[in-house]
Parts: sequence; structure tokens; C-alpha cells
Amino acid sequence: MSSRPRVALVTGASRGIGRAVATRLAQAGYGVAVAARSESRIEQVADEIGARALTLDVGDAGAVEAAIATVERELGPLSLLINNAGISGDSGCSWEQVPDRWWQVFEVNVLGMFLCCRAALPYMRSRGHGRIVNISSNAAFFSLEGGTDARISSAYMASKAAVIRFSEALAAEARPDGVQVFAISPGTVKSDMTAGIFKAEWDDEKLWSPPELTADLIEFLDSGALDELSGRYIHAANDDWRAFPARIAGILEADSHSLRVR
Ligand code: NAP
Repeated sequence: MSSRPRVALVTGASRGIGRAVATRLAQAGYGVAVAARSESRIEQVADEIGARALTLDVGDAGAVEAAIATVERELGPLSLLINNAGISGDSGCSWEQVPDRWWQVFEVNVLGMFLCCRAALPYMRSRGHGRIVNISSNAAFFSLEGGTDARISSAYMASKAAVIRFSEALAAEARPDGVQVFAISPGTVKSDMTAGIFKAEWDDEKLWSPPELTADLIEFLDSGALDELSGRYIHAANDDWRAFPARIAGILEADSHSLRVR
């Protein structure tokens, strides 16, 4: 195990995937900060897992900067940032959407991710070390040839594509300073978010992945095993990522696990 202190911030950790990831990291000995908007829920999670609670809207630049400063001051050097906070937006076709609500998906999923990275990077870059994991989704690119699934909003699909491309851009920018950036998908996970979308599929166990699989992947990424793949997109359930260390050269040569026009 590395002697470097391991300090992680997980946004959107009051429930669902973020909560499972934060729980795992706390069990693994990380100093963990957990963030969400609901004060009572995030404090409850923090109490349960032994983490520092941060009541935070990731779309608020000042609050994000203050939160990262709090982590650095109270827990130590932030080494792992998990941008997991996300919302799905309203179902229905784009022309049915209320503009402010459509845009709010970008404010959380994209602006929130950017603001957290922006606040964390000066600390990470100054130390020449850090990893950032941004939670995307296959909704970024799955084919709509058979017709759209109006349960998944265009705002959500577009925002998750932005997460992948932003992660690649940031990885290229931060690589010389020793900071790695990954975009990952958790697969399809039962949560408050999916309960509202996949009611008809709820009992089809083949569809679902456990949130612990995302925690497994994040722990693996933070081992450094895939640092050479910084900037790429990895699917927790569909990719055989445990075998990736032996395949790094092939992945780089094929330029796979990235958003490209075919
Ligand atoms: P969830 O159960 O709805 O949890 C979302 C979390 O984000 C909550 O803790 C929520 O807490 C927090 N959050 C929402 N808006 C926030 C804001 N403005 N500032 C800070 N925190 C905020 O969702 P989930 O299913 O666990 O999804 C987690 C992430 O995985 C999301 O980015 C989602 O898009 C992605 N994802 C999920 C699936 C899936 O199958 N579940 C698949 C692909 C990708 P508050 O409401 O208290 O703020």
C-alpha cells in the first residue's frame, strides 16, 4: 500500500452510487468527505461511515471552493475526487421541456463537475499527484436508431457526452502535472434516479449492476494501474477493466474507450 495519505471527496454521496463508493473508500482507510445538498441526509451518511459531511450544491462555485478548502484543511491533501452528483432531468421530448429545467441538468452534471475539478486542481497540481473520476453514462453515446427513449432526457444524454469529452480534455491538460482523469459508467444501478425511469424493468435482474462494482473500479483506478489510460472512458459492468493493465498499449493504439466520430 502507498504511504501517501489517501483523501477522497465524493459528491452526490447522500444515497445511491455515491454513497456506496464513499462507504467503500472509508472502509479501505481513506479519509473521506461526502457532499450533497440535503444537510440531514449527508450528515447521516457521514455519521454512518465516519466521513466529513459537506452540504453543498456543486453548481455553486464559491461553495465548491470553500468545500475543497475544508477538505484540505481538515482531512489533508485531497488525492481522489469523485464527481458523482448528477440529475436525470425530466422525461419527454426536447420540445416539451421547460428551458430552465433542461439547463439545470447541465448545471449539475457538467458545470458542477467542472467547478469541483477547477477547485481541486490547484492543490493536486501543486503536489504533482491526484486522480479525478467523473461519472458519465452510456447515455452519452448509445444508438437511437431504433427511436428515442423519451424517459431519458436529451439534456441527460448530452450532459453525459460532455462529461466524457471534458474528462479527456482535462486529462491532456493535467497529465504533465501528474493528475489523471477518468470518465466511467456505473452500468445500470438501482437508485432513486433509475426508480423514476426504469419502472417497467425494475424486476429484471439481468439489467442491473450493484453500486459496489463502481466502487471496485474506482479503487482499481486509484491504485494507479490504469494511469496510462487517463482521459479514457471505462464501463464498470461491460468492460473487463481488471484485464486492462495487460492491454494498455493496444487500447492506446486502437484509440478505443474514447468519444470519436466513426
Ligand atoms: P441518485 O440516487 O439520484 O443520487 C444523486 C446524488 O447526487 C444524491 O446524493 C443527490 O443528493 C446528489 N445531488 C444532486 N444534485 C446535486 C447538486 N446540485 N449538488 C450536490 N449534490 C447533488 O443517483 P445515482 O443513480 O446514484 O447516480 C449517481 C451518478 O451516477 C449520477 O451522476 C448519474 O447520472 C450516474 N449514473 C447513474 C446510473 C444508474 O443506473 N443509476 C447510470 C449511469 C450513470 P441531494 O439531492 O441531497 O443533493
